[in-house]
Amino acid sequence: MTRRPLLLVGLGKIAHDQHLPCLHQSPAFELIAVASPGACLSGVPIYADLDAALDAQPAVQAVALCTPPGVRTVLAQRALQRGCHVLLEKPPGVQTTEVDALSRLARDHGLCLFAAWHSRFAAAVEPARAWLRQRDVGAVRVSWKEDYRVWHPGQSWLWQGAGFGVLDPGINALSILTRILPSPLRFIAAELHCPRDSLMPLDARIELASAAATIELELDFLHEGPPCWDIAIATDAGELKLGDGGASLVINGVPQPLPAQQEYPAIYARFAELIDTGQQDADTSPLALACAALEFGQRRQRPVCVLDRQQTVTA
Ligand code: NAP
Repeated sequence: MTRRPLLLVGLGKIAHDQHLPCLHQSPAFELIAVASPGACLSGVPIYADLDAALDAQPAVQAVALCTPPGVRTVLAQRALQRGCHVLLEKPPGVQTTEVDALSRLARDHGLCLFAAWHSRFAAAVEPARAWLRQRDVGAVRVSWKEDYRVWHPGQSWLWQGAGFGVLDPGINALSILTRILPSPLRFIAAELHCPRDSLMPLDARIELASAAATIELELDFLHEGPPCWDIAIATDAGELKLGDGGASLVINGVPQPLPAQQEYPAIYARFAELIDTGQQDADTSPLALACAALEFGQRRQRPVCVLDRQQTVTA
C-alpha cells in the first residue's frame, strides 16, 4: 500500500504521546513534515506554520491538526482550501457551526473531514454500544476526574475563552455517551465552578437526559491521585460499567473480553478508510452538549487562580 504523505500541525503533548508513535508505524500514512512554532524534532522537516509547510511540501495529501481548539478551524479551512484531507483532534472546534461549515467546505472540495473523538476508539466502546442497543436505560453516572497539573502541565490555553477547562477531558465522556446510548442526549442543567481568573470551569456537575434516562456527570480537574474516567449505566438488564476511559467493560459484575484495540492506531485506520471511500465523519453532538453547559451552566467562583504559575493557588 502507498502511504499518504501527511503533515502534522501542532507538535505538543498529544502529538508526542500518540500521533508520532502511531504515524511511525502507520501502514496508511507517512509523516513528511511538521508545522508548529518553536518545535524540535529530528528526521522530519519542521515549519513555523501550516502555509509554509504546504508551500514547501506540495506532496502533502493529509493534515492532522493537533493544536489547541481555538486555532483549529482556521487551520482546517486553510488545509481544505489547499486540497488536503483533514483530521481534527478533539474537540473539532469551539462551536458546532464552525465544524458544520468545515464539513460543507470538505464536501465541496471532494475531501475528507474527520473529527477524531479519540475516546470513541477505546476498546470497550463498541461492545458497550452493541449491548445497550436493546436495553431500557435508567440512571447514568459519569465520574471524570484528573489532575490538570499532571496531565496538562503548562497548558494555559485550557483557561482561555476557547479552552473548555475541565470540559476538555469531560468532552471525552460526552463523546462516549453520545456514541453508546441508544437515544440522543439533551442538556438539562450545569453548575460550573470557575477559578478567579477564568470563565472556564475547574470542576462541574452536568445534568443531561436521553429518552427516559437521567445522566449526571461529575467532572473534576483538581483530582489528586490516579485519574478516574468511569461511566456506570443502569438498565432493565442490569448494570454496565465502562472504566479507564472506555478501555474496560464490566456487565453485571462480570469483566468482559475486549478486542485488542488501541485508540490512535484505530483513528488513523478510520481516517484512511474515510479517504479511500470518499466519506466524512464529523459528528458535533459532544461539542454541542459541552457548549450548552458552558453557555447555560450557572457559574460559581472558586478562591483559586490557575493562570499565575500554571499551578493552582488557594487564596
Ligand atoms: P499542547 O501540548 O499545548 O500542544 C499544542 C501544540 O500546538 C503546541 O506545540 C503549540 O505550539 C501548537 N500550536 C499552537 N498554535 C499553533 C498554530 N497556529 N499552528 C501550529 N501549531 C500550533 O496541547 P495538547 O495537550 O497536545 O492538546 C492539543 C489538542 O489535543 C487539544 O484539543 C486537546 O484537547 C487534544 N488532546 C489532548 C490530549 C492530552 O492528553 N494532552 C489527549 C487527547 C486529545 P506552542 O506551544 O509553540 O504554542
